[in-house]
Amino acid sequence: MSRKPSIAIVGGGFGGVGAATMLRRQGYEDVVVFEKGERVGGVWHHNTYPGAACDIPSHLYEFSFAPNSWSRRYAPQAEIQRYVEGVARRFGVLGKVRTGTEVKAAAWNEERGCWRIETSVGAHEADLLLTACGQLSVPKVPPIDGLESFAGPAFHTAEWRHDVDVAGRRVAVIGTGCSAIQVVPAIQPLAAQIDLYQRSPGWTFPKMDHEYSPRARALFKRFPILHRLDRAAIYAGQELGTAALTSQGWLRPFARAVGRRQINSAIADPELRRKLTPTDEIGCKRIMLTDDWYPALNQPNVELVAERIEAVTADGIRDATGAERPAEVIVLATGFASHDFVAPMEIAGRGGRTLAAEWGEVPRAYLGLTVPGFPNLFLLYGPNTNGGTGSVVNTLECGIGHVLAALDEMESRGAERIEVRREAAERFDRELRTALKGTVWQTGCTNWYVDEDGNDPSNWPWLWGTYRRRTQRLAPGAYDLVH
Ligand code: NAP
Repeated sequence: MSRKPSIAIVGGGFGGVGAATMLRRQGYEDVVVFEKGERVGGVWHHNTYPGAACDIPSHLYEFSFAPNSWSRRYAPQAEIQRYVEGVARRFGVLGKVRTGTEVKAAAWNEERGCWRIETSVGAHEADLLLTACGQLSVPKVPPIDGLESFAGPAFHTAEWRHDVDVAGRRVAVIGTGCSAIQVVPAIQPLAAQIDLYQRSPGWTFPKMDHEYSPRARALFKRFPILHRLDRAAIYAGQELGTAALTSQGWLRPFARAVGRRQINSAIADPELRRKLTPTDEIGCKRIMLTDDWYPALNQPNVELVAERIEAVTADGIRDATGAERPAEVIVLATGFASHDFVAPMEIAGRGGRTLAAEWGEVPRAYLGLTVPGFPNLFLLYGPNTNGGTGSVVNTLECGIGHVLAALDEMESRGAERIEVRREAAERFDRELRTALKGTVWQTGCTNWYVDEDGNDPSNWPWLWGTYRRRTQRLAPGAYDLVH
């Protein structure tokens, strides 16, 4: 290909903005980002529930090429949203984003060697297609009997109704995952009563969040090496956590001791302590970082209901013991449909075969990025690139680095098309599934990583350093390049 290829990106969150920026920095100007929302930001634009904040220290939850002066160790949602928009503006890619444009489908045109992309406002063609849809963008509404019959407002944390005032009202919160542990402490001082419906408890760690003093911020700015050192230290800590969750199970008892100590020192009531202490292995569900969850649960206007929900009625929730608690507002902190990846968008590769057909029961991709039969397609934060620790922003940068390596290779070989070889993808998948068997996510608990049949299409079973190493160049023989 003599000209630089045209590139279409689906999704304007960290992935889409990061890809457009890194591509532009390498001279790729013919780039368009389709974003169905009204602004860039992805999950950070959509998740505006009270208390929403990052649970990875911000010095690692930022692009390595755009360090930021954060207000706190764990930045709140609005600050992260401003950061993503700021990066898009500063690196000149905001103009490449088409907001309010949903991609419905994309099909590979074999004859013309390009992707035809159907959007809500018309068709578009591009040589390369990158999906950056995230894994946590589609809210999951639980199949609870009678939910639709509830008379008051009921909404998901990711679709927070800011027009609904929770002050002085009885609020039922369903779910006790990462979103719930942030929202409950934020609304507890306002609500008259919070009934918190827990299906199974999760382990927590102290977050030790704090503001950065003006002096600390000035030092980070004056001596960027300090910022980089802090980032490196956070990264090392995350890698230790990743080792504990994947191959180094002997580390888990130490982690469990920290989690148990947090519960025991915060909760005096033995019955509440019992309900809150998980019985499953630490890390099987995502470990939640918090300083204010247990103090909120100690408040007299919060009740932890550990019985199964039987049904939602017009004005409350009935549990399995038959007890019914009145509610005026229901908050669904029930997580996301995370296993569909690019859905509901339909992607058809060579011969019209769809990604859904190629995947069957379990989504899979070589390094989470490429799928045989789908030339010039890269899935950012695709199958098996999540983890119990580590920064998704770092993962995305690695994935985008792989796209840049592929583009370099195409340019140097004069190729117009790149496609992962089926043998390479299958070999990688076998290696991945074997490694997953030894991870904590397979120890039997409910988590959003593993499906009902025990398949894990979500998580990376090795260190993040391994992901960086494997993505930074194309392994010999992994890809076919076509002139
Ligand atoms: P989640 O971790 O999947 O938690 C969902 C909660 O809802 C769990 O407690 C689950 O119970 C419960 N639940 C699901 N279906 C239910 C049902 N039918 N009946 C009763 N309870 C039900 O979802 P999330 O809290 O939204 O977090 C998802 C992920 O988003 C996190 O793991 C994290 O990666 C990310 N996140 C990050 C941040 C951050 O960085 N600040 C904040 C929020 C979320 P079980 O545990 O029994 O399944």
